[in-house]
Amino acid sequence: MKFINFLAILLTLASCSTSKNYHTSNNRSNSLETQKKPYVLLISIDGYRWDYTDKYGPKFLKQFKESGASVKSLRPSYPTKTFPNHLSLATGSYPVNHGIVGNSFYAPTMREEYSLRNREAVTDSRFYLAKPIWVLAEEQSLLTATYFWPGSESEIDGLLPSYYLTYNHSTPHEDRINTVLKWYKLPEDKRPHLATLYFSDVDSAGHKYGPNSNEVKNAIFKVDQSIEKLNTELSKLNLPINIIIVSDHGMAEVDPKKFELIASNELKEEIELSYKVIGSGPIVHFYMNDNPQTNTTSLLERINRNADHFKCYDKASTPKKLNFRDSDRIGDFVCIANRDWSIGLTKGSLPKGNHGWSQYEGMDMHSILYAKGPNFKDSFQIKTINNIDLYPMIAKLLDLKINHTIDGTIKYSKELLK
Ligand code: AMP
Ligand code: ZN
Ligand code: ZN
Repeated sequence: MKFINFLAILLTLASCSTSKNYHTSNNRSNSLETQKKPYVLLISIDGYRWDYTDKYGPKFLKQFKESGASVKSLRPSYPTKTFPNHLSLATGSYPVNHGIVGNSFYAPTMREEYSLRNREAVTDSRFYLAKPIWVLAEEQSLLTATYFWPGSESEIDGLLPSYYLTYNHSTPHEDRINTVLKWYKLPEDKRPHLATLYFSDVDSAGHKYGPNSNEVKNAIFKVDQSIEKLNTELSKLNLPINIIIVSDHGMAEVDPKKFELIASNELKEEIELSYKVIGSGPIVHFYMNDNPQTNTTSLLERINRNADHFKCYDKASTPKKLNFRDSDRIGDFVCIANRDWSIGLTKGSLPKGNHGWSQYEGMDMHSILYAKGPNFKDSFQIKTINNIDLYPMIAKLLDLKINHTIDGTIKYSKELLK
């Protein structure tokens, strides 16, 4: 029996691991006890705005949402960008506490920059300060697998998912789905109880063509069909799988006229002498050099005097509800654009759609959470909740103990569970 099991694992993994991008990080097994637990498949559709299902009517997602448990909208954390929010979803913590305060930022203690495009940075454990749900599960003898998720390619607290992949933007949906299916066909001791899957299409179309475009509609339909196909195949396996579909943030139409330069040429030179500048668009960070030639308070006053559609803040006084103060990785001062406005030290080309603005100004930045499976209520919806509240809910589903501090609460998200 053992030998047959072993052969099955080898055959299954061999067929999805032919690529060098597929990794098996350990040789752990689910204990007999953990094998009895249910399964959670967490799917992220990047940039899927909270109202897209009503707006565009994708067949599968609409039916999934209506027949399962859902929230009116999921409120992202600030800044409403991809990496900060995938880590908030995965750790139950605000960006200031999980450490990924932007898609790009500077970490003064490491004297290094983080950027989602820098492979060395995204795989560097030192950037990640909070425990992701897959690490919590692995620590408690539950196997996990990630088909892409920001942070999943780095050891965190010494652990990686048992199975994970190197990020590749262009991997076809079919490959992603087939690998996830193969995970569920593994023998019980090797089958992951928590798996993630990620799609970038809707976000990419949102940036390139704007949230009201046919291209966004087509991207939604494409993802819809892929998830439907996966769901059909999964239901044939008769496993207690809970599928949770989330997104990281929404998307807003960008008006090319709504761009403001942060500083005049003269002031720009003064700033660049004393600060490292990171970002453009909805937020820009300014990190003080070792030998600043200027005084931040006076500089801020001078910038803000001429700022019509943004405001610059000393890090300690950014709006309290954004929870965006307490991290040395936030610039010594930051400039935050008003809703739908873009700012920068220089003007580059603007996308047709963007996100990154406050989650409290309107709902365009809000995302989704739909869930269906043996542990979720049917045809049930609750009001808007914060995305940091997902973590304790998944922990409860998988009966994982949380013995560390998180920002999220289970108070509201538990309402979705039976
Ligand atoms: P943004 O819209 O700038 O917040 O970021 C979205 C982009 O992040 C997408 O186009 C993805 O290609 C990229 N992305 C998503 N997940 C990962 C990952 N795990 N590693 C590297 N890049 C990623
Ligand atoms: Zn995103
Ligand atoms: Zn995006």
